Amino acid sequence: MMMTRNGLNFGGGPGALPECVLREAQQSLWEVPGVGLSILGISHRSEWFAAAVAELESNVRRLLDLPNDFHVLFLQGGATQQFSMIPMTLLHKKASPADYVHTGYWSGKSIAEAGRGSSIRVVWSGESDGFRRLPCDEELDFRPDAPYLHYVSNETVEGLQFHRVLGPDGVPRVCDMSSDFLSGPCDLQPFSLVYAHAQKNIGPAGVTVILIRDGLLADAPSDLPGFLDYRSHVQTHSIYNTPPVFAIYVVLLITRWLLNDVGGLKRMGEINRQKAELLYERLDESDGFYCGKVASADRSRMNVAFNLPSRELESRFLAMADAAGFSGLAGHRSIGGIRASIYNGMTVDAVEQLAGFMDHFRRRYARRQAADAGGVPAWLPPAEVSAPITSPNLPDYTQFSPQ
Ligand SMILES: *Cc1c(COP(=O)(O)O)cnc(C)c1O
Repeated sequence: MMMTRNGLNFGGGPGALPECVLREAQQSLWEVPGVGLSILGISHRSEWFAAAVAELESNVRRLLDLPNDFHVLFLQGGATQQFSMIPMTLLHKKASPADYVHTGYWSGKSIAEAGRGSSIRVVWSGESDGFRRLPCDEELDFRPDAPYLHYVSNETVEGLQFHRVLGPDGVPRVCDMSSDFLSGPCDLQPFSLVYAHAQKNIGPAGVTVILIRDGLLADAPSDLPGFLDYRSHVQTHSIYNTPPVFAIYVVLLITRWLLNDVGGLKRMGEINRQKAELLYERLDESDGFYCGKVASADRSRMNVAFNLPSRELESRFLAMADAAGFSGLAGHRSIGGIRASIYNGMTVDAVEQLAGFMDHFRRRYARRQAADAGGVPAWLPPAEVSAPITSPNLPDYTQFSPQ
């Protein structure tokens, strides 16, 4: 079955959304069912929107089985705004610095931002090692008197993901879950503040979900600008000023899809694990042709980052993938290479297509090499060694025309 280019969008963010949700979003631009107005012209002060925010909050609570003392907020400014709002709120009049773990590009950004006006301490950094692995517990000497500790659960650029919760229980845990939020089951009990913008797994850019425990707000300074004070948003149920109505509506549609179509986060997690395994298998069985960037134990289920033997082959891979209808596979501009982002909206079928393409590309490369060098790699099926380049057995992806 042919897919639209949307279905084969492996972009790192904004990420692909399920096609059924895109259709509903499309419908809402014209007329929200039951309201008769375009979503772009519905008042954020309407009863309909207050109900939409309330339903979204309740869906998030249901999906995560969220402890009751968490507030659920929908703010603007992206994850980047949280990089500064968090220290502004939590480090006020604190004698000791907050602990930060430096595991990749995005935690680096959060450290730079927090360090601008506040006192923080970097507990561990993987920078000198090229962010190829995550720290083990023995390497993390969190201080018991830190006002909070901060880490990124999934480093989107490098493709590193923590498969455990960090830190001692006495210190409030703050976590940037922007690129793996609602991608599988997650126990929020150990956390005090979690933030995740929508545009990786759960919607379009423009809205960021914040889960914050009520107790954390007690020591916040009283002279913060209104918008930067979490309490303003708690008091107004995220309608402090004009919120991104459309983005919030799409996140609502995604949570409905997760609850009703997917069947909850456990199932979503299984599907995401299956997709990741399909691609990591390709890496592991490629004799080093597809070379993963990170330690196997720390592999991300959301972002699969790898290199090919040369830059030139990487460009060819990307060009052929593009001709075959895939998009968004170029690695982050900071590190290059290839990155397949397989967020919630990406289907197993689409990932299977990418895996098939990777097999095809590798065989084709091996045949070229064999032709040049006169030797044939042992793993290459003989039928494919002798087949002409236009063999019907090997789909010619350059002829692929996506609908
Ligand atoms: C993409 C990303 C960000 C950047 O978020 P903005 O919404 O663009 O500010 C921050 N953290 C992580 C983990 C990300 O993946």
